[in-house]
Amino acid sequence: MAKAKSGKRASTEGTLADLVPAGPSASAAEKSKAPGRGLHDQLVKLGIARDQDLVLHLPLRYEDHTRVVPLSALALGVEQQTEGTIVSTDVQFRPRRQLVCMLEEGADERGARVQLVLRFFHFYPNQQKALTRGRRVRVYGEVREGHFGREIVHPQFKVIDEGAPLPDRLTPVYPTTAGLGQETLRKVVARTLASDPALTGETLPDWLVAREHLWKFSDAVRFLHTPPPRLNPLTRRALDERTHPAWTRLKFDELIAQQLSLKAHRKTRAARHAPVLTGTGALTGALLARIPFKLTRAQQKVWREISHDLKRATPMQRLLQGDVGSGKTIVAALAALQAIESGRQVAFMAPTEILAEQHYRKLTQWLEGLPVNIAWLTGGLPAKERRKSLEAIASGDAMLAVGTHALFEDEVELPRLGLAIVDEQHRFGVAQRLKLRGKAMGEAHQLMMSATPIPRTLAMTFYADLDVSVLDEMPPGRQPVKTHLVNNKRRAELVDRVRKACAEGRQAYWVCPLIEESEKLELQTAVALHAELEATLGPKIGVGLLHGRMKPGAKAKVMADFVARKIGVLVATTVIEVGVDVPNASLMAIEHAERFGLAQLHQLRGRVGRGADESVCFLLFEEPLTDTAKARLKVIYESSDGFEIARADLLIRGPGEFLGARQSGVPLLRFADLDKDVALIEKARDAADALLQKEPAAADAHLARWLGGREEFVKA
Ligand code: ADP
Ligand code: MG
Repeated sequence: MAKAKSGKRASTEGTLADLVPAGPSASAAEKSKAPGRGLHDQLVKLGIARDQDLVLHLPLRYEDHTRVVPLSALALGVEQQTEGTIVSTDVQFRPRRQLVCMLEEGADERGARVQLVLRFFHFYPNQQKALTRGRRVRVYGEVREGHFGREIVHPQFKVIDEGAPLPDRLTPVYPTTAGLGQETLRKVVARTLASDPALTGETLPDWLVAREHLWKFSDAVRFLHTPPPRLNPLTRRALDERTHPAWTRLKFDELIAQQLSLKAHRKTRAARHAPVLTGTGALTGALLARIPFKLTRAQQKVWREISHDLKRATPMQRLLQGDVGSGKTIVAALAALQAIESGRQVAFMAPTEILAEQHYRKLTQWLEGLPVNIAWLTGGLPAKERRKSLEAIASGDAMLAVGTHALFEDEVELPRLGLAIVDEQHRFGVAQRLKLRGKAMGEAHQLMMSATPIPRTLAMTFYADLDVSVLDEMPPGRQPVKTHLVNNKRRAELVDRVRKACAEGRQAYWVCPLIEESEKLELQTAVALHAELEATLGPKIGVGLLHGRMKPGAKAKVMADFVARKIGVLVATTVIEVGVDVPNASLMAIEHAERFGLAQLHQLRGRVGRGADESVCFLLFEEPLTDTAKARLKVIYESSDGFEIARADLLIRGPGEFLGARQSGVPLLRFADLDKDVALIEKARDAADALLQKEPAAADAHLARWLGGREEFVKA
């Protein structure tokens, strides 16, 4: 829903007949736009293309205009409707132009007059005129304590006669978009609901509805669009919290549709043809012979699974899960070589330039002397080099293309693509992942890699179409990273320790605090921290700085200096969080560790402990700590197991975060909640199976209602 406006301040003309819209958003735009084309376009913006979609366009929330709370009884911080007589209306100019009305109710029990300020920062002359002294108005909004007593900013209001009747039911507030008023939406929805009974007809068979004790679809949507009068408080709460049986029916239907679409997707995949990548073993054999280590048993097993998939004529969609440092890259490199042996190209993608660059370097080193040309492509590449890369890729001269998401832009032609590898796939945005799936990659095999295990609800839903391989073993000889919690007061001792370690030829990361509000602030702190450490540690040790705003060339230079040990300490923002691999760096200090999430701390700490030296991670914290921060630091202090940490993390954050759908604004599931509706997901999965087996026609109808060709339910 993130794309739609919340509709929070939209007017409520629907039930209050001649209400004057309060904000400028609803009024002018709505009046000037003739219905028809404008309305159609606005609805399309909301994802509404068919009447059926309007039926499923359900309220975000409800407003209670059925009661009038006396001015003397208003509560702070809640939306309420109240009524009074206007005693003054002025335009004020300080601190900025605004319309201020004073609303008054005769007197309270003790005979004092009760007042309420109505404040408008945006207003039209006709609104000002409507609010003249002596008028009786009914207003709706959130009451706050202002400088001059209680007030409502931008209330909805309506001029009334004393004792004017009240609506008898809740007023729905719909997700909307600029220029489309609640009034219009309500009318359109009501008209549609009344138009054709087929729109609210049952898609599920009676036995399923009965077995799951579901509300009928038509009852459920009618209840949600127009809740009946005088709901008791419990029902009202269930409606608001979306636990009401009417909501349950909608969620269940949505989840069934998702499961059906997954299964359809899987069927299509099974029917698709992918190049058979048998390989010859020439390149993979050469790589295995030249790396300085032996594959772990887990790596061998996973490599066999992938190798087997690549030989099949249906596209592989496999997720390779393995904790930070478990050695996913070498497995990916082997897969790439099998494809190249079979005469096919490989795209190897990473979510950040630093990581992509590191893969590029590693692969170049591993493949040196072998007949494989590697092309390098990121967004920051100078035009000339970019053209060269694009040409090498398009001509097939480069069989391996390494880069960021720049690799799946339209310009990039990979004529012989056989395998797409996506590292740290959960770090790519949802939109990018969908784009990747849409692209010519449809024909190619796909290998996705992630250090973060997928929560169970997601494994059952968005990712249900993936095969999963797990690297459940660490390469031998790894010494666990010692973790210390260090109060910031003892910072000087830590600096000393780092100085000593660097004098012995070791290297350290110093991670700068996460500042959620602003990347700019984070940058400033990184620069300040760099200056501080440079001053205390001196030029002999060498302190480098790495942050996201640097030009790609500058970043690469700093990384190269660090790898070449020209720099002893690398001050970095969280840009180093994913995948960076410098085995000689065995110390890490994380500033304000209490501000980081668990997954992030684990990823960061995973940057050390990659070489033979014993590694140490210092988590600097500043008191006072919140309970969550304490809980998080305790988990990261006690555990080094990524899966365990992820589980703890889930308990704190919930799977919705993991999906990243919330930030990206792609509403994958509109009603069901992956955090709260786990039980429902399992039932929906069974129901979808049953439908496909016993009632394929019903399954088709159900999917048609929900999918309508506009939604993506599957993830890659
Ligand atoms: P991740 O799974 O986090 O991507 P990497 O692929 O970056 O891990 O591997 C981490 C480090 O371990 C690299 O330096 C890599 O060369 C090394 N490595 C990988 N496999 C083995 C192995 N079987 N034995 C020893 N070292 C290994
Ligand atoms: Mg990696």
